Amino acid sequence: MEIRNVFTQKPSAQPEAERIARSPLVRSIWIFGGLLIVAVLTINAWSLSQSWQRMIRNAEDTAINLSLSQARQAEDTFLQTEITLRELQRDLQSNIAAGAQGSRLSLTMRDLKSRLPQLHGLFFYDASGKWIATSAQPVPVGINNSDRDYFVYHRNNPRNSVHIGPVIRSRSTGELVIPVSMRVTSAGGGFGGVLLATIKVDYFRHYYGYYEMGNSDVLVLMLADSTVLYARPMPDSYIGKNLSSSCLFREMLMKSDRGSGQWSAALDGKKRIFGFARPERYPLVVAAGYDKQSLIKQWMKSRVQDVTLNLALLAGILIMIFFILRQARMNLRYQAELTQLRDELTIVNNSLKSMAMIDGLTGLANRRQFDLYLHESLMRSAVNGEPVSLLMIDVDYFKRYNDTYGHTNGDECLRRLGDTLSKMPHRSADLVARYGGEEFAIILPNTQQKDALRVAMRAVEAVRSLSISHQTTDVPAGIVTISAGCATITASGKEKDVQQLLTHADAALYRAKHHGRNRVAL
Ligand code: GH3
Ligand code: MG
Ligand code: MG
Repeated sequence: MEIRNVFTQKPSAQPEAERIARSPLVRSIWIFGGLLIVAVLTINAWSLSQSWQRMIRNAEDTAINLSLSQARQAEDTFLQTEITLRELQRDLQSNIAAGAQGSRLSLTMRDLKSRLPQLHGLFFYDASGKWIATSAQPVPVGINNSDRDYFVYHRNNPRNSVHIGPVIRSRSTGELVIPVSMRVTSAGGGFGGVLLATIKVDYFRHYYGYYEMGNSDVLVLMLADSTVLYARPMPDSYIGKNLSSSCLFREMLMKSDRGSGQWSAALDGKKRIFGFARPERYPLVVAAGYDKQSLIKQWMKSRVQDVTLNLALLAGILIMIFFILRQARMNLRYQAELTQLRDELTIVNNSLKSMAMIDGLTGLANRRQFDLYLHESLMRSAVNGEPVSLLMIDVDYFKRYNDTYGHTNGDECLRRLGDTLSKMPHRSADLVARYGGEEFAIILPNTQQKDALRVAMRAVEAVRSLSISHQTTDVPAGIVTISAGCATITASGKEKDVQQLLTHADAALYRAKHHGRNRVAL
């Protein structure tokens, strides 16, 4: 019988690894880990997107507030200028009848100009464009302003409203100025000249400089027709630029006087988050725009810490998952090894158990099994009242056989005898055993004496028919023979039943020997 060496044999690694990988525990860990990672990533993505949306909203709010306050400031600046011009207009029109005096008007202009920091100068040109009065000192001679746009406008337009023109370069100082002008009516009701106030572009440059803005963020003051009056932080070359192609003028201002949005600035093509406002009183537009690229950089900088922490958390989760997986795999492997060991030990145990019951030489039941089965058969007999028969068989003159042919041949002979006895037709309940030495026994449960006798005679006959040569036997045939003693009892259920049956069978065997061997005795 083969006994596997359970301590050295190992199952092949590949199917084992596959089996572990497919185990419900490992799968659950993968699924759980996967869900955890997806959840962390989703929460992070959501939180990042929320913070970006917040950043955009804040930028839009700031831009719209800034443009509103700048629109208000521009409105105040132009309103103060208009009030000054109206004062001069009133003064002029009451004096035109009396004959305008340039020098007196110039004095008044100088006084008014000194009160308003935004003013570059105040001027009055008569109907031909000649300088009559100005806040400038000294009054330049020989300059004619009839070619200026604002002059042409008022000459052709009898309305008494303030006109704000695009930025021009002052003829007196060379500075960039915004012309704010008003028509003067002559005594006859016709065109009497133009009153002009010029506002320094530097005033806005200075004022816009107060605001903390990035290098790519813009603050732009424009005329309602989209002409740039001043754009911070652009160079002066941007002044006068027409921005009508901008989304601001094409879409936004069509819908509302104030608002916010994202579009590419017509100034330089950069994408910005804009806020804009259009004052009620004057045809002006103010827009504040924050550079999107800078905002993204700023936002990314602010999220670095969060993102790093979350990546660390993710790495921690991954390490944890792999650690748990490793532990689970190890446990499963141990479990598999233990299960295998248990199975193999069970097999070995069963082998050992059956080995303990079998005779090594003949493969028949051994003495131990014989004792157990005889006891069991007698117990059953005591319960059901059926008889149990026992045949005790002994090889005749076997000592002499050994002496003649040697022990090895003696063993071979015993093997053949055992084989013959076991192959004789038996009932399933019968048990053929090697009782010890050259003695065999057959237990025949539920068998009457006459039937047992028949079995014994068949056994003697079967051995005889083997015709194994035995030169030193006293049996006349000169072959190996056996003698059998046969006994039958119906058990009483007492301890002595076994002994009684054995004694009777042994006595019968003795009688068979005594009467010449190669026979059966009862
Ligand atoms: P008898 O006819 O009276 O039974 O004579 P016997 O020689 O068979 O009886 P005895 O009891 O004197 O001798 C039994 C012999 O059986 C002794 C021993 O050499 C032999 N024997 C017992 N067991 C074995 C065995 O396992 N192998 C071999 N080869 N011989 C055995
Ligand atoms: Mg004997
Ligand atoms: Mg013998």
